[in-house]
Amino acid sequence: MPSLDHGAERPPIVARYDVLVAGGGASGLVAAASAARAGARVAVVERAGCLGGTATASMVAQWLGFFNRDTRVVGGLPLELTERVCQAGGSEGFRRYTLGEALKNPLPLVNFPFNPEIVKIVADELLADAGVDVLLHTQVAEPVMEAGRVRGLVIQNVSGRSAVAAETLIDATGDAAVAHACGVACADPDFDRHGRQPCTLVFRLSNIDVRRFRAVPRDEKRALALEGVRRGDLPWESLSFCSTPGDTDAISLMSRIHGIDALDGTEASRAMAVGRQQIKRILPFLRANVPGFERAVLSGIAEQLGVRETRRIVGRYTLRAEDIRGRVRFDDSIALGAGPVDVHDEKGTGVSLWMPDGPFEIPLRTMLPTDVHGLVVTGRAISATREANGGARHMATAMALGEAAGVCAALVAKGRDLADIAADVRAALRSRGALVAAEDVARVAQPEPESIPAI
Ligand SMILES: Cc1cc2nc3c(=O)[nH]c(=O)nc-3n(C[C@H](O)[C@H](O)[C@H](O)COP(=O)(O)OP(=O)(O)OC[C@H]3O[C@@H](n4cnc5c(N)ncnc54)[C@H](O)[C@@H]3O)c2cc1C
Repeated sequence: MPSLDHGAERPPIVARYDVLVAGGGASGLVAAASAARAGARVAVVERAGCLGGTATASMVAQWLGFFNRDTRVVGGLPLELTERVCQAGGSEGFRRYTLGEALKNPLPLVNFPFNPEIVKIVADELLADAGVDVLLHTQVAEPVMEAGRVRGLVIQNVSGRSAVAAETLIDATGDAAVAHACGVACADPDFDRHGRQPCTLVFRLSNIDVRRFRAVPRDEKRALALEGVRRGDLPWESLSFCSTPGDTDAISLMSRIHGIDALDGTEASRAMAVGRQQIKRILPFLRANVPGFERAVLSGIAEQLGVRETRRIVGRYTLRAEDIRGRVRFDDSIALGAGPVDVHDEKGTGVSLWMPDGPFEIPLRTMLPTDVHGLVVTGRAISATREANGGARHMATAMALGEAAGVCAALVAKGRDLADIAADVRAALRSRGALVAAEDVARVAQPEPESIPAI
């Protein structure tokens, strides 16, 4: 591991920040803006050519987790982001939607569908307005450690290798890439690396009559999906589409690639080719069989694989499904999860899908490693069991965690100790309109249920 004191091996330090964010996805984007608004000098390092993560580079074009049933459980910066996306014409707002409507266990919920291309633009603007330095097409190579503390990152991009120093690091890579490289324990107790949830390569179809498709009764959609699986044209029982404004395009999550360890470069590459072959079979099936898709044109395939599951850290607390079911209260809760809890079959064609009875609290300790200092982990890789992760990984939740991570990292950069920071993080988040604990749901304005239109 290189050290800042170790001149011979160290690439040049090109910049110094208070807070450095690895990964500019759902959680990292918001974490960076949040830390900057808390007064820190911030940079974010992102390997893709855009911010937004799975929402943009992987084209998963709907934010879930803002609502548990009809109750809004996320506010603050993530909610501001939805408003900015609407103002930019990238979404028509929150909608009632049935998740997995061709599955045997569909779930009605409220989503926020969007055009991912507009989200890319809005994400750029959010960080520019906050004064965050952004390095795109830049890979985190390894952390710089000094006496058990992270001091910066070695990064790699078209300029070559260099080092960026920071007081505090936020790992928002989704894969706990920084934490793992720092030696933080990561737990995969429930499965081996080939038993992870399947990956999906998302694609976009234009020239669709989305309203016609939405009007098809659910049992007909299920019959179509099962027929597609029987013929081998569809990899799973899904006719899952996100709508974009204008109702002319459908963004599809119908590919499903099993047995992939997305942390293995060879397997992750193979998954892209397998996904594209699946799309090649799905497209004629849709054109021939599904109302509204007769004149479908393939207008885009995501540049990055959609990865549901890789590493999670073992932090100071591990969120469990019992905590979600029992809606356990935590003194250091810094975000509310909404659900649903969804865990996709490792090998089969279904999904375990359920909605918690109400919002659940997520403690700050799930984001803090036990032994490495100067590091906060946010997003998909927080400390959670597999099932709890299935409820806490949705993008609105990842963004709410990101806002907390940003406040926390900014305070640490100013010299505060992580051990006694929770009360101040909660107070700062509440002053921004974020919801950090169960009682906050009653404090914020809630929409009238009938004011949320169906998709
Ligand atoms: C197929 C699929 C469907 C899903 N459906 C939904 C849905 O409908 N709604 C919903 O809300 N959630 C959905 N999810 C879950 C959700 O998208 C993720 O759990 C969420 O994006 C996690 O947020 P994150 O910020 O932790 O990770 P991400 O949003 O994935 O962001 C991580 C970022 O880190 C970057 N990165 C990683 N490693 C490095 C590195 N070494 N150097 C530099 N950058 C790096 C990545 O490029 C990425 O931009 C879905 C996920 C998948 C895969």
